[in-house]
Amino acid sequence: MGGILEKKINQHPIEQALDWFLFKDRKIPLFEKNSIKKIEYCPKSRIIAVFAAETQIMFRNLTYISENVGWYFYLTGVPLSPSKISRAVDTLKKNSRTLEVSWNISDYYKVDLIVINSKMNQNSFLLRINEHFILLDAGIAPDQIVSLKREYPELDLIFISHAHYDHISGLLELNGAYPNTPILCSKTTLDFYILNSNRDFYKENWQLPENFLKLVNSVIYVKNQDKFALSGNVTMEFFFAGHMPGALMLFIEINGFKFLYTGDFTYPDNFPIAGVKGIVDQIDSPVDFLLVEGTFISESFSAPKFQFDFLKNALYNRALNENRVLIGADPASSAIILYLTIFSFFRSLQLNEGFQNRPVIWLRSRILEYIQIINHRLEDLHGYIRMKIEKDLNPFQSSLIRWIRGWKDIDHALAEPNTIIIYDPPDLGTDASQYILKVIGNFKHNLIYLSGALRSSVGIELASGGNNVVLNDGSEFNNKALVLNQKNPQAIVNMHADKFQLGKFLEQINPRRICFFHQHPGKLITSRNEIKDKFKTDEILALYPSNDFQKIILI
Ligand SMILES: [Zn+2]
Ligand SMILES: [Zn+2]
Repeated sequence: MGGILEKKINQHPIEQALDWFLFKDRKIPLFEKNSIKKIEYCPKSRIIAVFAAETQIMFRNLTYISENVGWYFYLTGVPLSPSKISRAVDTLKKNSRTLEVSWNISDYYKVDLIVINSKMNQNSFLLRINEHFILLDAGIAPDQIVSLKREYPELDLIFISHAHYDHISGLLELNGAYPNTPILCSKTTLDFYILNSNRDFYKENWQLPENFLKLVNSVIYVKNQDKFALSGNVTMEFFFAGHMPGALMLFIEINGFKFLYTGDFTYPDNFPIAGVKGIVDQIDSPVDFLLVEGTFISESFSAPKFQFDFLKNALYNRALNENRVLIGADPASSAIILYLTIFSFFRSLQLNEGFQNRPVIWLRSRILEYIQIINHRLEDLHGYIRMKIEKDLNPFQSSLIRWIRGWKDIDHALAEPNTIIIYDPPDLGTDASQYILKVIGNFKHNLIYLSGALRSSVGIELASGGNNVVLNDGSEFNNKALVLNQKNPQAIVNMHADKFQLGKFLEQINPRRICFFHQHPGKLITSRNEIKDKFKTDEILALYPSNDFQKIILI
């Protein structure tokens, strides 16, 4: 915007400034001015904030507008309301349930870990402390819940680490099978789960159906650093896990025996949602038994800053030339992080260098709902997204954001130059994402970036260098656009700890025994051997895909 202060431009009285902007100016078209919903101003900081749906030409003329009136203009298209899901949950008359568990545990302890499920798409473990049972995550199918109930008729507690499908998919059925068992999770995790499991709330005026009401009533919210005593000598404590908003790790101490379940986690602190690096020291180490996510146990990625730099450079070049970009990303985690990073990047280019070609970022409307939940539940967030939200200018508000609510919006987005479409899933496995691919991939100066786990043939083929892909409708498509993953395999927004980060984490935790989950068994065997050489750990286990309730005796 350049500095109206440096240029010593007079600050016109607000009435005059608005009169000029709204009525006298001829550069900004009427349809943009008519789309203005609200104007707020702050004379001291010389800022006029304009809430409007259409701001593209205003945006390109910010300097002109500012210099004519002596005020800075801040354009924002998405005034954020609080999350309706969170509000609906908050207004429920929840049983004021505190954790009143008093477990009778004798001097003699027996602790087992029973593996209910350990697969890429299903994770669920049972921690048995004498005759008490804590279920760790609910990535579990309905038929398994039946056999779980048969084998273990009573559960004492259910802990949910985060809202990703592979850790939470069976929660509602589980609550049906164990209606009296308290569920421990963060507020964000519950809101995300409700949002993902029931898409009809809009139609029902945000009323929760009966089974969800029951579920909400069974939940005891926990947050970072909460600590409970279950009996005189069993305590549990919760810590931020990074990875996605609301994710928590669980630390249990049983008469001096320390057990840590990480769920999925990220390590670095300089990530938009900070990882565990800075908080691990608060966990009382050495840990006796560590049940740890090992997704990227044998892979190494570049430092977070570099991961984003590849993408920023590519985006900068596309924006300069008004080309289009398609980013495939998970709406609940990487899409939010990417959006924030991209938004901040272009905003600083605009503010510091007067960059005029800032693209329009198109986001799935679901991402708006996630962002509203995050705004509503700031206490569950850790890292610089939270810092940015807490500052005056909400980073999620920008003139250059548009929401995709259906096919019409997709067509609209594709018709414009200089757009960045962030759409799910990461691997372009759906009809809608492939429809976008066909348009964006048809021009060699456009850019495609796939962020996250690639499972569909289209994503795998594109990332590995093959540009001929077979789409869902059976047609073949030849991609011409640049696929960033091919050129820079390091350009990954990695929401799990890699090999080095895992190593640092293990050093801090100093575990006596380690058990990895969330990894392909073949990779686990190799990595287990690699780690064995590095750490003087008594025992390293790897969980294999199984359904048969295998038992690991801890003490
Ligand atoms: Zn996850
Ligand atoms: Zn997972």
